[in-house]
Amino acid sequence: MGSGFDVSRRMYEESKQVLAAGVASNLRLAMKPVPIFAERAQGSKLFDVDGNAYIDYILAYGPQILGHAHPRFVEAVRRQAERGQAFGTQHRGEIELARKIVQHVPSAELVSFCSTGSEAVHVALRLSRAFTGRKKIVKFEGQYHGWFDNVFTSPATGGDGAVPGTAGQDPLALSELVPLPWNDVEALEACFRRYGEQLAAVVTEPIMCNSGCLPPLPGYLERLRELTAAHGTVLIFDEVITGFRLGLGGAQAALGVTPDLTTLGKAVAGGMPLSAVAGRSDIMELIADNRVTHMGTLNGNPLCTAAAVATIEALEEDGGAAYRRMESLTVRLTDALEEIASREGLPFIVNRCGPVFHTMFAEERPVERYEQFVRRDAARFAALAERLLREGVMVRPSGLWYLSAAHAEADVDDTAHRFERSVRKLKE
Ligand code: PLP
Repeated sequence: MGSGFDVSRRMYEESKQVLAAGVASNLRLAMKPVPIFAERAQGSKLFDVDGNAYIDYILAYGPQILGHAHPRFVEAVRRQAERGQAFGTQHRGEIELARKIVQHVPSAELVSFCSTGSEAVHVALRLSRAFTGRKKIVKFEGQYHGWFDNVFTSPATGGDGAVPGTAGQDPLALSELVPLPWNDVEALEACFRRYGEQLAAVVTEPIMCNSGCLPPLPGYLERLRELTAAHGTVLIFDEVITGFRLGLGGAQAALGVTPDLTTLGKAVAGGMPLSAVAGRSDIMELIADNRVTHMGTLNGNPLCTAAAVATIEALEEDGGAAYRRMESLTVRLTDALEEIASREGLPFIVNRCGPVFHTMFAEERPVERYEQFVRRDAARFAALAERLLREGVMVRPSGLWYLSAAHAEADVDDTAHRFERSVRKLKE
C-alpha cells in the first residue's frame, strides 16, 4: 500500500499542461484530494500510480460489471484484435450481440449500435420525433441522459422551463423540452392534459439512479405507460445504468413495465465503448427504411461487440448466478454500512436497486423524490468519500456505488471496517 497521492498530484499538474482540465471527463474532477491516476486494475481492485490499492465501487462509472480485466473479457478482446479491430463492414459479432439483446430485453425487437449512452439517447429522441411527427419531449428533473444539447439541463431546471446545463449549449435545442418532477402522477397527468398529442416522447430512467437511486412509486411507471400509449407518445426507458446491471432484462424486466424504446450503455459491453438503442420494430424500422439517419464510424465495432457478447455470456451463466451473488453482497454491504452509521448516530440513508446503490446523509426519510435528494448533505458525503479514498475504498463523491461480480465477501467486509474508521475520522 502506498502512502499518499504525490505521484497522482504531479501527474495531474503535468496533465493540465496538455489536457484541458487535466481530465478527460469533467465528472472526474470531483474526486478529492486529487483525481487519482490509475496504474492498472484487476477484479474488484484498482491500483494507482502511488502504489495505493482500492476496493473499487466506481467501476469506471458503471460499466465494469464483471470487475476489471475479467479473463473471458480479455480473451474475447484479444482474439478479436488478432482478427482485426475495425472493419467498417457488417460482421458476425453485431448479429450475435443484437440477438442477445433481443433475447433478454423485453422491449427489444430491433437494435441499433452506437458508442456512448449520450448517442443512444440522441438516436432514441430522433426516432421518436420522426415516428410521431411531433416535437415535444418530457424529461424529468434530476435525470441525466448524457451531455448533448437537446437533453442536458442544469439542476436549476424546473417549473419555469429547461435551463441549459453548460455554457455554449444552444438554448433553442431545449425549447421543446418539457421538464417535470419525477414520481409525481398529478404533474404527469396535467402535462398530458395540457400538451396531449404534442408529445413525441417521454424519456426516463426507470429507476432514478443518477439522483439518489429513487425507485418509482407503486403504479407510477404503469400510469406513465398508460398515458404514453393512450396519446401515441413514445416511451423511452434510459437503461444506460440499469440495463444488464439489474439483471439481463434490466429494470424493465424487474419492474414489469415495457417501454417502446430502450437505451443501453455502460454494463452491456463491460467497459468497452458500445451503446445501443433497441425497441419496437415499427419505430426502429425508420432506420431500416433510411428515413432516420443513424451513422457512426465505429458503430458496432468488433472489439466492442466481442467484449459485450463475452460479458453477457458470463452474466448468463448458471441462470444469472452473478446477479444473485452481487445482490446478496450488496445487501451484506449496505446492511453493514447502515448498522455502523446508526451506531455512530449519523443520519445515513441507503437507497438500493440491485448491485447499485446511493448513500447519503439526510434527515428526512425515506428519500423518494428528487427535491428530497437535493436537500441531502452532499458536502458531508463528499468529505466521507475523500476519507474512504484515503482508506483504500473508491466511491463516487456523489454517493453512487456499483458492485461487480468480482467483489467478494472479504472485499465487502473490509469495506465495512474501512467505512467505520472513515466515519469516525469524519466526526473528529
Ligand atoms: N443515460 C444515463 C442514465 C447515464 O447515466 C449516462 C451516463 O452516466 C448517460 C445516459 C450517458 O452515457 P455516456 O456517458 O456513455 O454518454
